[in-house]
Amino acid sequence: MARVVVVGSINMDLVTETDTFPRLGETLFGKRFAQYPGGKGANQAVAAARLGAEVTLIGCVGDDALGAQMKTVLAREGVDTRWIATGREATGIAQITLSGGDNAIVVVSGANYELSPADIDRAEAAFHAADVVLAQLEVPLATVRHAARVAHAYGKPFFLNPAPAVALPEELLELTTLLTPNEHELAAALQTHGAAWQDVLRRRPGRIAMTHGKDGAYYTTEDGELKHQPGFSVQAVDTTGAGDTFNGALAAFWHLGMAEAMRRANAAGALSVTRAGAQGGMPTLAELEQFLT
Ligand code: ATP
Repeated sequence: MARVVVVGSINMDLVTETDTFPRLGETLFGKRFAQYPGGKGANQAVAAARLGAEVTLIGCVGDDALGAQMKTVLAREGVDTRWIATGREATGIAQITLSGGDNAIVVVSGANYELSPADIDRAEAAFHAADVVLAQLEVPLATVRHAARVAHAYGKPFFLNPAPAVALPEELLELTTLLTPNEHELAAALQTHGAAWQDVLRRRPGRIAMTHGKDGAYYTTEDGELKHQPGFSVQAVDTTGAGDTFNGALAAFWHLGMAEAMRRANAAGALSVTRAGAQGGMPTLAELEQFLT
């Protein structure tokens, strides 16, 4: 069983459905309201835990009901929540309004942006015990960089899913064992807009695994050979969280080697799009194994 430390965001998605979007100053009665646990950190932690990994999540929530709820949800998934800090700001939320196939979204990062390098240092024991450390970019970049340094100091592989898309400092790239962008995030992270992604992957042999939707994923071997790990053909219902499922799975199965870990991550990603919701669609290990037989 792989031991995975995830450093990342914890959000609650607050989803309302309405017949029309409210105009400025207008009050509407909506049709439905639901809460869905989310945030890339929490999602990737849950994805890895469902696939049998021993997962610790380092994050920050507010001292409020949503924060308590998120910790309960994570603990129920078997994620170690011991190192989730409590900030002064409110728990991160995404307020999502759905109407007639369109959406309007407001994200408030809140406590996620209080996750500090000191919180990483406090969780040093988790790094020490980890097989893989996995991070994304919905918490402060300085904290991600510190996590990369600590992982490096302990000789642990550091995976970075560079989402949302931003340019990355060279030091962070150097400390990253494996970068896991989609095509758009790859260009933003490395500032290679206009260059063919195949060339960008070849420039950093063995250091990038790029997801490509239903097509699957690509990586280069240490000697610069471009490899394609094909996706699995499924009936897609909701692609939300496919990337998070892929990342959690890749970390959980990393010990099986790049090709096999990516094959399983593609399968997990494919299964996740056959069901609604980000965490709702994430497969268990038994479901994945059945899918692959
Ligand atoms: P998102 O931000 O929507 O979670 P992403 O852009 O980060 O996604 P994608 O490349 O779309 O990531 O998807 C991640 C992985 O999930 C893919 O590499 C693939 O394995 C799987 N996947 C995504 N969409 C599909 C699909 N329609 N059919 C099969 N597999 C899919």
